Amino acid sequence: MVGRRQPTPFGGISRDILVTKTARLLTAMSMLLCLLLAACDVSLQPPDSTDSATSTATRSPTDADVSVVNDGHTSFDQEVKNAIADVQAFWRTNYPQLSGGRPYPELTGGIYSVDGTKVTGALARNACLRQDPEAAVNNAFYCTADDSVVYDRNPDHLVAQLAAKYGTFMITAVIAHEWGHAIQQRLGVFGAGSGTSQGRPATIVTETQADCVSGAFIRTAQDGKTAHVSVDQRQLEATLLGYLQVRDPPPVSTEQISHGNGFDRLSAMADGIGNGAGYCFGDRFAQRQFTERPFTSDVDYLQRGNLPYDQIIDPRPASPDGTSLQLELNRFWTTAAASVKGQWRDVGVDETSNPACPNSQVSEFDYCPDGNDVYFTDQFARQAYNSLPDKRIDKATGKIILVDNAPADYSLGMLFVYGWSMAVRAQLFHASTQDKDALLAASCYSGAFTASINSGGSQDFQLSPPDMDEATSAVIKLVPSDKAYGAHQTTALERIQRFTVGYFGGLPAC
Ligand SMILES: [Zn+2]
Repeated sequence: MVGRRQPTPFGGISRDILVTKTARLLTAMSMLLCLLLAACDVSLQPPDSTDSATSTATRSPTDADVSVVNDGHTSFDQEVKNAIADVQAFWRTNYPQLSGGRPYPELTGGIYSVDGTKVTGALARNACLRQDPEAAVNNAFYCTADDSVVYDRNPDHLVAQLAAKYGTFMITAVIAHEWGHAIQQRLGVFGAGSGTSQGRPATIVTETQADCVSGAFIRTAQDGKTAHVSVDQRQLEATLLGYLQVRDPPPVSTEQISHGNGFDRLSAMADGIGNGAGYCFGDRFAQRQFTERPFTSDVDYLQRGNLPYDQIIDPRPASPDGTSLQLELNRFWTTAAASVKGQWRDVGVDETSNPACPNSQVSEFDYCPDGNDVYFTDQFARQAYNSLPDKRIDKATGKIILVDNAPADYSLGMLFVYGWSMAVRAQLFHASTQDKDALLAASCYSGAFTASINSGGSQDFQLSPPDMDEATSAVIKLVPSDKAYGAHQTTALERIQRFTVGYFGGLPAC
């Protein structure tokens, strides 16, 4: 978050420094930026043969037999093959509904398993790997040049690390995304000149569409209609959180926007899960708005979009003519209450080591109707401030390190936003604050408030580019914590869907 009147510790930082430092950061992250990249638009012939070596020794009865070039015969490769078999079956059934009845054209260019940078032998015949042998590192991609799918199976690299931390269904979500690109190619989404950038939709459009398509497949797996992969509620929650790790970092400029931030990607995936593949290729999806954007303030950039912890929990403005999250919340809800002829009583905050509210014996962050305040413990609020899933590369080994505790001022901020949303329930509607309806309504209100401070313009108080990731992370894992509002039988998917409805539709949609 950033406030116009907040202290500016670095004074007059020039635009050049901003760009240079951001560019350096970008270079360090370039391996990650290309995650799930759809590019490699070179017009080359398909490879003339594929390696038919396929493991049969360690397969279980539910494992699929799929031919993979340079098959590593690892459990990771087998997960990929299981996902591919089910994703292809899904498209044989569903493609005709998108193509006016034409059958699904099978993949012609093969599937390639790469162990990191080791691109030799049959792998070198892949059109995209031939052009860029490191294209697969920390990545998986669909190669339009020869209609192939390539993935990096190296256990220290990104996709395998994501699977190790968030569960093997992450692999399925990634494969289903790449197949989204194969479907785009078949349906002509990339335009007539698909070998060039001309006539091609913006990358963020095709990437989030592939996320939506991945969601449509996930729904089928959820419904138990897949032969080889399966996903239960707990695994899906972990997958959604893991998918937040494939977000773009804030871009240097609008031209650098590529896959979408975590909210862009996960809300698209949630739309696919909720509405199916047809929705992903329909008009409503085509009109989608995106929230990924570059930093516009040097101070905000240098703070990585994070106000200090003390400033987030303090409802008083940082300077006499400034503002704060809590002031903005009271301002927003005063106006909203007036629009429904209601009277808003400003909500306060109460930092306490010993919360006393009949709501809950265990919560350390909740709204208490009796005192009309949001109470919290310093310990849990600090945990919330340091709760964002993030990734870095060990430069010595190339290993991807996934963490859960990157600073996230708006993850903590979202707990306040939810508290105010519960106050809306109590004050304006005399409704419950401790059940499923309350949490879903609060998710929607919180989306509407979030949109009101995310214009990217010159408001006194507004979100920073990483804040939508931090909000999404909070909706998935912080809000439902027993130490906060509790899950109340809601799923992460439902909360994301309601948050998205409020974000794009505003309060009338809630
Ligand atoms: Zn992609």
